[in-house]
Amino acid sequence: MNKEIKHVADEHLWQEIISQCSFSGEVMFREVMKMHTSLKIGGPADVFVFPQEVISLKNILTALKRRDISFMPVGGGTNLLVRDGGIEGIVVSLRDCRRIEVVDDAKDMVSLFVESGAPLQKLVSFAKENGFSGIEGLAGIPGSVGGAIAGNAGAFGYSMKNVIVSAVVMHADGRLIKLDAEELGLEYRKANIPADSIILSANIRLRKDIKEDIAKRMEGFLKEKRERQPLSELSAGCVFKNSAETSAGKLIDEAGCKGMRVGDAEVSAVHANFLINKGNASAADFIKLMDAVKAKVLATFGVELETEIKVVGRG
Ligand SMILES: Cc1cc2nc3c(=O)[nH]c(=O)nc-3n(C[C@H](O)[C@H](O)[C@H](O)COP(=O)(O)OP(=O)(O)OC[C@H]3O[C@@H](n4cnc5c(N)ncnc54)[C@H](O)[C@@H]3O)c2cc1C
Repeated sequence: MNKEIKHVADEHLWQEIISQCSFSGEVMFREVMKMHTSLKIGGPADVFVFPQEVISLKNILTALKRRDISFMPVGGGTNLLVRDGGIEGIVVSLRDCRRIEVVDDAKDMVSLFVESGAPLQKLVSFAKENGFSGIEGLAGIPGSVGGAIAGNAGAFGYSMKNVIVSAVVMHADGRLIKLDAEELGLEYRKANIPADSIILSANIRLRKDIKEDIAKRMEGFLKEKRERQPLSELSAGCVFKNSAETSAGKLIDEAGCKGMRVGDAEVSAVHANFLINKGNASAADFIKLMDAVKAKVLATFGVELETEIKVVGRG
């Protein structure tokens, strides 16, 4: 972070940067991140901006770059734990860039252009309504398309990796970079997104299929999700990654962690890999609970759990 802008008191300087760079979109100062995460946890971001279109994004990113200030992209905040001290600097959301369009309609296949701010479930519904198959297993996964690419979201054997043809990212210096599927390096819950860049859009390819069959598959997956996951609780989904051998949830459950609690943070009794906020959990509570779960699984099975959610912000 640039030395010029360290504290909230620098709000006037932020205002100056934003007003000088021809930016349209919403700007929030000291915006509490708990309002923007599915866990409802997280302190204030110094600045939170919502560019209305790509040119505003470019203008703000290049203005920041000139001052050597970094930024953090955020989607739906459904895979994020923001620490109680909030986020130093600037958070960028593309929630206002959410177009989904068919760009190529062939006999069996279709190509879609999707902006990264589109909710993933908007894309899933679009596919369902139009009879496009390939992302049925993503039904019910919250968050944005950008977040789903950044973490290669998936379930039931489906993932973004299976449908992505390419993505366009904007680098902090304003350059647009097109990455093909291989360059994106999508693996289990990870992608090779270049540092200091934000995913703008993607091209995805889906197969044409019978609408009723697609809807039936989605409904089946949603039913399983509803039965196996604590969907009415505040969570960020699975906290730890599964290993090739076994699921993290199974290890956590068999280590006896279900019901463990620190403050208002609790290991769900429904799905042990979901750590939930029962109301007023702080990030510190949540992190203590994560550490306690990791320690118990390590002591019981000798397995070191790897964190799946992104833990960000100042302590
Ligand atoms: C109830 C529940 C169920 C879930 N089930 C699943 C599941 O079955 N499978 C699964 O994979 N996940 C699941 N998740 C986790 C989460 O929904 C996914 O990881 C989702 O894809 C995250 O998207 P997001 O937009 O919320 O990302 P965010 O949480 O906002 O961000 C996650 C990361 O992506 C980065 N990012 C976001 N947008 C961009 C962008 N435009 N450019 C560059 N980087 C970006 C952020 O910087 C951050 O590092 C679940 C979550 C919940 C709450």
